[in-house]
Amino acid sequence: MGRFDSISTDPPIDVFHLTELFENDGNPSKVNLGVGVFQDENGKTPTLPVVRSVEQSMAQDLTLDKNYLKSVGLDSFCQACLKLVLGEQSSSIIENRACSIQGLSGTGCLTIGLEFLYRNGYKIGYISSPTWSNHLSIMQAIGFDVKRYRYWNKEKLNLDIDGLLQDLQDAPENSVILLHACAHNPTGCDPTREQWQQISDVIKQRKLFPFFDFAYQGFSTGDLDQDAWPIRYFADHQKHELLVAQSFSKNFSLYNERVGHLTGVFSSRDIIPKFRSQLTTIIRRIYSNPPAHGAHIVATILCNPTLYSEWKNNVRTMFERIQSMRQLFYTKLKQLGTPGNWDHIITQHGMIAFTGLNPRQCQTLLQQHHIYLMSDGRINICAITQKNIDQISKSFYEVIT
Ligand code: PMP
Repeated sequence: MGRFDSISTDPPIDVFHLTELFENDGNPSKVNLGVGVFQDENGKTPTLPVVRSVEQSMAQDLTLDKNYLKSVGLDSFCQACLKLVLGEQSSSIIENRACSIQGLSGTGCLTIGLEFLYRNGYKIGYISSPTWSNHLSIMQAIGFDVKRYRYWNKEKLNLDIDGLLQDLQDAPENSVILLHACAHNPTGCDPTREQWQQISDVIKQRKLFPFFDFAYQGFSTGDLDQDAWPIRYFADHQKHELLVAQSFSKNFSLYNERVGHLTGVFSSRDIIPKFRSQLTTIIRRIYSNPPAHGAHIVATILCNPTLYSEWKNNVRTMFERIQSMRQLFYTKLKQLGTPGNWDHIITQHGMIAFTGLNPRQCQTLLQQHHIYLMSDGRINICAITQKNIDQISKSFYEVIT
């Protein structure tokens, strides 16, 4: 009898399970709309041209070694990230009240940021309903009492702003409010600027703490500054103290390099050394220090005006592909006369579209049409190509009619 004979098996992670089912499907026309990774017209997740060229010069650079980074990461990377998220002219940067710390991409930065809040007395966390599933898992594992605020109006297929504001109004003081800065996953539905102002007002009145998840800068509007607007409004215009967990998985296409940063904006510069010291302790315990390769790539690009503008063009190219596939899918569904209003496909933002299909329809797509998607109806728009669009839209038509 071994010690572990009686341990239980955890339920599979939905999106990984879907990928496994897809891989085991022998049908040559199968399509995977599940996993949220950018794909080009050939169904490939390319290394960005600007990243490739920086990697080539890094390979020749004999000054780059494999020594440890500090727990809080590479300084040049952190300084550049701060400007990317808050803007060159940010008063929080000028007044030295802001600081970035390198972390293990979006997931890692959310984790260390939430650990920091929890150990400083923040015990209640609010996530949007629905949200990216890891928000719940990470908060719960740290010990937060996790609650949900309304976000998606199922009937109208848009933002339930009244429900959202009411739920924040009712939240206990010092609750942590996890917000998607742009390209909300999975609904693709972002608040307007006016709505962000209302959200900011309630957060301030109720003394709540805003924590932005920023995984898709550039993917919502194609413009890096516009996508950062809510964070800059909260930090510099409304003088909120806040955290931001930014992932470079998507907009640098550096998925497996685990590059990201946690930015903190505080009321006074005196907090910065305390924040850095606590983050050092947290990181030291979990993974000691972050990997350097991806951070070097990002720092090199952000600190060089030519490379920076190349990267902006690369982001723009990805954004344009997302937009054109949204438009194509919408047009095909309309041409087929698919019942329902499909405007949300073109009004939503980012890679993920929330189709409005119910779990039964999703199951039929999977079992009868070999089209794989999550049971809540979300799809990765970039998995659509000129080659598979007819099959996808006809299959949607069939399961809906
Ligand atoms: N937040 C959201 C909303 C996401 O969709 C993702 C990626 N799917 C992440 C964070 C973080 O991903 P990663 O850890 O790969 O950067």
